[in-house]
Amino acid sequence: MTTLPDLDSRAADLIDLDERWSAHTYHPLPVVLAEAEGAWVTDVDGRHYLDFLSGYSALNFGHRHPELVRAAREQLDRVTLTSRAFHHDQFGPFCRELAELTGTEMVLPMNSGAEAVESAVKVARKWAYRVKGVPEDRAEVVVAASNFHGRTTTIVSFSTDDTARADFGPFTPGFVVVPYGDAEALAAAVTERTAAVLVEPIQGEAGVIVPPDGYLAGVRRVCDDAGALLIADEIQSGLARTGTVLALDHEHVTADLYTLGKALGGGIMPVSAVAGRADVLGVLRPGEHGSTFGGNPLACAVGRAVVRLLSTGEFQQRATSLGARLHARLGDLVGQGVAEVRGRGL
Ligand SMILES: *Cc1c(COP(=O)(O)O)cnc(C)c1O
Repeated sequence: MTTLPDLDSRAADLIDLDERWSAHTYHPLPVVLAEAEGAWVTDVDGRHYLDFLSGYSALNFGHRHPELVRAAREQLDRVTLTSRAFHHDQFGPFCRELAELTGTEMVLPMNSGAEAVESAVKVARKWAYRVKGVPEDRAEVVVAASNFHGRTTTIVSFSTDDTARADFGPFTPGFVVVPYGDAEALAAAVTERTAAVLVEPIQGEAGVIVPPDGYLAGVRRVCDDAGALLIADEIQSGLARTGTVLALDHEHVTADLYTLGKALGGGIMPVSAVAGRADVLGVLRPGEHGSTFGGNPLACAVGRAVVRLLSTGEFQQRATSLGARLHARLGDLVGQGVAEVRGRGL
């Protein structure tokens, strides 16, 4: 840090600006960050902190991973935005590489996680009407209690968190909520009108809730029996966080659609996607869905660099070994200020 006259008052002034000029949608800790590298962040007063939050898993590679920064810089010097009215040279390769990494057949790039979830819901509804034969406007999507899938009006329509919902109605119909971790309750809620079951393989925002063994395989069976799609929201659990590319990989379960986001942007910019079966994503026709920024050249270049980092298995390995160490050492502290240790990988 360069010398600044009154460092603490600078932090206080910046917090005042934040409180005076921004909508109060968060309650941040009184720390004003200015720089970051790897697992470390530095505040405006030059204090260093180990970042355990990792951007809610958007920073799976740490802050400013050199290969991700290089990919972004190189793309900044070429082209950053074309709109989807044209092809560009990063788009096809990104979609192919992401599909190959995730064992899927087709990719729909978007920007934020919530947009990926919204997109998956739209695709599942159209698939239900055009392929499954559900009567018009009768399709249902079954979701789990305590879910977190984003903040749009449709997504908060099926939230069970009062703070996320209160005063934001009227809500979008067509969602059914069942308890998380209970495949029998799910089976009882699924009908011939069920387009999809939307579930987090590990509930992140709910407090890192790992479901009971066999639950996700049970969800897959329920979907197969009912002819419903399984949509796995891997926005937080995916891309190496738990030690595998997808958290569902631990259970040897395959979803029909995956929503990806957070770490897909490498901590540099928002990049999200729906990846899945070609016969499902293939129901969308030109003009039915889109995004000005989705799949832009800069996003695709960063996303390709993320896929490259994940293709070696090094990050999955590291999440596994560091996760085991962290869980063991935290486990030793249970009863001494630590109530419980939950999670998978890092
Ligand atoms: C963060 C998150 C989202 C929403 O992503 P945004 O980029 O904040 O819109 C959706 N689903 C899960 C599981 C998440 O953790």
